[in-house]
Order: sequence, then structure tokens, then C-alpha cells
Amino acid sequence: MNLLLIGRGGREHSIAKKLYESERVDRIYAAPGNGGIRDIAVCVDIDEMDTNGLVDFATENVIDLTIVGPENPLLAGITDRFHEAGLPIFAPTKAAAMLEGSKRYAKDFMLHYDIPTAAYAGFTEPADAKAYINKIGVPVVVKADGLAGGKGVIVARTMEEALEAVDQLLPHDDHSDEASSIVIEECLEGPELSLMAFVHGNHVFPMLPARDYKRACDHDEGPNTGGMGAYAPVDDVSQETLDDITEHVLQKAADGISQEGHPFTGILYAGMMMTAKGPKAIEFNARFGDPETQVVLPLLENDLLQVLLDVLDGKDPKLSWESKSCAGIVLASKGYPGPYEKGVPLPDQLTEDGAFVIHAGTRKESDQLVSDGGRVLLAGAKGDSLAEAITDAYEWMDRRIHSDRFYYRNDIARSAGTT
Ligand code: ATP
Repeated sequence: MNLLLIGRGGREHSIAKKLYESERVDRIYAAPGNGGIRDIAVCVDIDEMDTNGLVDFATENVIDLTIVGPENPLLAGITDRFHEAGLPIFAPTKAAAMLEGSKRYAKDFMLHYDIPTAAYAGFTEPADAKAYINKIGVPVVVKADGLAGGKGVIVARTMEEALEAVDQLLPHDDHSDEASSIVIEECLEGPELSLMAFVHGNHVFPMLPARDYKRACDHDEGPNTGGMGAYAPVDDVSQETLDDITEHVLQKAADGISQEGHPFTGILYAGMMMTAKGPKAIEFNARFGDPETQVVLPLLENDLLQVLLDVLDGKDPKLSWESKSCAGIVLASKGYPGPYEKGVPLPDQLTEDGAFVIHAGTRKESDQLVSDGGRVLLAGAKGDSLAEAITDAYEWMDRRIHSDRFYYRNDIARSAGTT
């Protein structure tokens, strides 16, 4: 079969690697791909957001299945356009992806379908939002309604921070056509957990749980990033709790979105917080997580293409997982998530000795591999224990990376249980 994979990050390299193992795959095209994906797929220079270009490419190249990595094309309606053109695609429609695209919609949805989540209220007027904060007190979490690439969430511990967050995320002088909106949430405490599932209509097949590290610096300090590392599975959460999250969060979401008339096909990701009052949903994503995917897919024993085809057929893919741990450390450009330099040469030899390497922001310039993004690559390893996996991943990083133009955290998975 010929596949088209949309995206350019580490998540997409990880998906491409897993698909490449399948005997049923003839060729993988990636649009636009990256410096690692191009070793196993044909990279085509079409932007993720160029829906017309992607439809034309899939038609002309007789693509049997398209898989979408990032969220932006979903919310631009790529799946709807592929459906209209009669092209097979494993991804949710724009309406179903609103579970990720609007925090207000997601919160109203959770309340309506009785999915455990933080108490909240939505606002479009700064004065109303501030009056509400004055009433409930701090800490609170202030969130921009739409996609903000991880920058639209402020956890405010003091009243001053909370009021400032309202001004930042809901400016008075916003003259854009679309009214801005924010959500103010009760601040939850506890370790986080990501649980992803393959979903088609009411069928939900959960993967292994993972935990990611969002802050830029050791000890969870510094600004939020797309994710600086991750590990799977998460042993401090019992199978009983995972079953509970599957039943009361993922299944309810799949059933609810069907009931709304927008059945979901694709990957549903539940971002959870394990509070003293039980697991609560923080957010839904409508696609594979990054970097969670990079540590979950290596443990999948099934043929990933067969899984996607089975799920689309309404069949149980009978997921099977290696009983090992997997951990990954992200190498980032110095300065990320702020301004950073691109085009920095990477070591010629990124040989996978003792670890696997997933490319994110990389590209080839002549024959030289150079950086091309904030998150550059992920070094990952599997082991019989989490300690073994993370030691191997760090050994690889320490051996290969000797440049102060990049950085990585030194405490990924070192204190499993906290993030
Ligand atoms: P992502 O980049 O993961 O997609 P996002 O921008 O969609 O993030 P959320 O996942 O809703 O936003 O929140 C980002 C982070 O903020 C969470 O991982 C969590 O650490 C923190 N957070 C969000 N909501 C709450 C809450 N109610 N209580 C405490 N912390 C929260």
C-alpha cells in the first residue's frame, strides 16, 4: 500500500518508522517530512496546511491511506476535504477535532457528558473574568480558548498573576473579528498522565500510558515547551485506574462526540491529572502526542498499518505491547522555546548504537545534517526497567552531543512519579 504521512516533527518520524516495519507498506510519502523521515520515506515539498495540494497529491499518486500528525491541518478541515474527494484518511473531521481546537467547547462537552474535569467558567469580558477570580481566589488556571501551541495556559499562584493572565489572554483592545474567549479553571494538583487511544466511532482501543516533561529546565523549572522528554509505561498508575480513565474519559468522549453527530476517527489523547479526588481530564488532543508517541510506538508489537486498517474496519486490532520500558530525551536548540538559531550542524554520525534517534527539527543541507527547529531530535531507548532505558538514552546523548548550541534536560524519568 502507498501511504501519505502529513507532518514534519518527531511524532511523524516515529509514526513513519513504525509504518516502515510493515510488510504491507510499499511506499511512504511524507509532506513535508524532515531530515530523518527522508531516509525511509519520499519527502514531498507540500506544506501541512496546503489542503488542496495534499488532496491533489493523494489523488495523483493513488494513496491508499493518509495519516495526519499535527493538529492544525485537522482544524483547517483536511479530513473533510479528503472525505469529499473520496480519499481514505485516518484522522478526525474538523467538527470532531474541536475537542482539541476549543478549550471552551471541550470543557462544556466534558460537563455535558459527565467526564471528570476541573471546575471552570468561560468569559469574553475581562471585567467579568476578574470579578470571578476575585470571588474564587487563587490559585487558578487561565486558558486561551483556541490553539496556542502550549503558550495559552497560565497557572496563576497569586492574585496579581491571575489578573495579569486575564489581560494577557483576553486583551481589551482586541479588534479582531472573532471574539476572544478564555476559560478559568480550578487549579488541580497531582502527577500528570497521557493516555492515547485508537478510536473509530464508539470503538476505543487504549495504548500504553505515558508521561511527558513540559518545562524547559531540570526540576520542572523554566517556561513551558512542546515537551522535553517522556517515558512509557507509567508504573505508578494501576491498571484499574487506567481502565477507569478508558471507561470514564476516553469512551465517554468517543460516545459523546458520536452523539453530537461528529463521530471521531483517529487518535484521541486524554491529558490527565491524578488528583487526590481521582483522575481528572485536563485536555483532549485529536492526534498523537509529541513526544509521547516517540516512547509509546516503539513498545507496540503489532503492525501499525494493520492496526489502523482494523480500527477503520471496526475490528479489534488486538493491541499487544512489549513488557519493557521506553524513555526519550529531547535535544533542543539553545534559546528554545524563545528565539533560537537554525542551521546549526549536527554530528555526522547519529548512529543508533544503544539508543534510537527520532528526528524533529532537522534537515539536510547538501550532505550536512543541520538543525531546523526548536526541538531537534529525541534520543530514546528501551530497557527491562525504566532506569535501564533512561541510562542508555542519556549515554547516547552524552556520547554524541558536544555543542553548547543545543541543550537537554538531565532529569527525564530520573524521578518517575513527578513531572
Ligand atoms: P499542550 O501543549 O499539552 O497541548 P495546551 O496548551 O493544550 O497544552 P493544557 O494541556 O490544557 O494546554 O494545559 C497545559 C498544562 O498546564 C498542563 O499540562 C498542566 O501542566 C497545566 N494545567 C492545565 N490545566 C490545569 C489545571 N486545571 N490545574 C493545574 N494545572 C493545569
